[in-house]
Amino acid sequence: MTKSNLPAEIAEVDTAVYKTLLESTNAIPWKLDWATLKFEYIGPQIEKLLGWPQASWATSRDWIDRIYSEDKTWVVDYCIAKSIEGEDYEVDYRTMNKDGGYVWIRDVVHVVRNPDGTANAFIGFMFDISERKKTEEKLITLQKKLEELSFKDGLTGIANRRMFDSVMELEWLNARRNKQPISLIMVDIDYFKQYNDHYGHIQGDDSLKRVAQVLSKVATRSRDFCARFGGEEFVLVLPETDAFAAKKVAERCHQVIFKEQIMHAKSEVSQLLTVSAGVGTIVPTSQDESLAFIHEVDRRLYLAKQKGRNRIITAAD
Ligand code: GH3
Ligand code: MG
Ligand code: MG
Repeated sequence: MTKSNLPAEIAEVDTAVYKTLLESTNAIPWKLDWATLKFEYIGPQIEKLLGWPQASWATSRDWIDRIYSEDKTWVVDYCIAKSIEGEDYEVDYRTMNKDGGYVWIRDVVHVVRNPDGTANAFIGFMFDISERKKTEEKLITLQKKLEELSFKDGLTGIANRRMFDSVMELEWLNARRNKQPISLIMVDIDYFKQYNDHYGHIQGDDSLKRVAQVLSKVATRSRDFCARFGGEEFVLVLPETDAFAAKKVAERCHQVIFKEQIMHAKSEVSQLLTVSAGVGTIVPTSQDESLAFIHEVDRRLYLAKQKGRNRIITAAD
């Protein structure tokens, strides 16, 4: 026996059962007529979820008006496109509630067709996915924080060695591909062990932070990069920078640290805290290794120490 030839009262009971079932689920059922875009039905649960009474959902306009402003355009465009294609779809978006807040909804939509295949109506279920979205958002924030922490030096707040490794690898490949020079400056504080011994580690940390802050502002082009290489050593990566410009930047490193006027009573080269620096520039070819280049710049830094500290050593020296 098909549904259409059931006795009337059985069909009525049947409908009542379905209605009760539909209206007792957490998901909100709805039906929209294709031709008139009027809601033929929307579950009464909508009022509990959003605050707008069931009767206030008359047409698709009411639905559009209540989509959260940031989501409105893309959701409507997406739904129209899917409807024209005649495909079933799912879409997550925010709907405003009556209190001025929003609720995350997942709308699962099915296109009902006439026997000739043309669209007759849309039926769907709205699911409240706010909790899931909140968890997702928290996870994304946490992920970002973790990423940030893993690339940031804990003491000074500037990039750490790990970040330097990544940036250097990337810029090295860029320089090689574009046949552009890349420069590297390695900076090391002079007699910092004596500084700590004399002033204590807390003040040592404080001075490291000050040095990191000023060094990180020395190079100003958008891809210039400064990191704490380790201990009291810093490194600057200067893409598309030739030897002349790199030396100028190294000189500015000296100047900004001098301007900080950090007293260092136990330094053998000055009354103030000073640094030594090694500078290198290369247009890398496929034969060159970034590690060998870093070692060469480090060797120049070592030479600067040997030659008396508080100085810069470049390829020309
Ligand atoms: P040089 O002029 O040859 O560079 O001598 P130096 O004393 O600066 O170099 P050395 O490598 O002998 O000592 C580095 C010192 O830096 C040792 C350590 O106490 C200090 N240092 C490294 N990391 C930190 C840190 O995070 N905080 C503090 N306060 N000191 C640090
Ligand atoms: Mg040192
Ligand atoms: Mg050192």
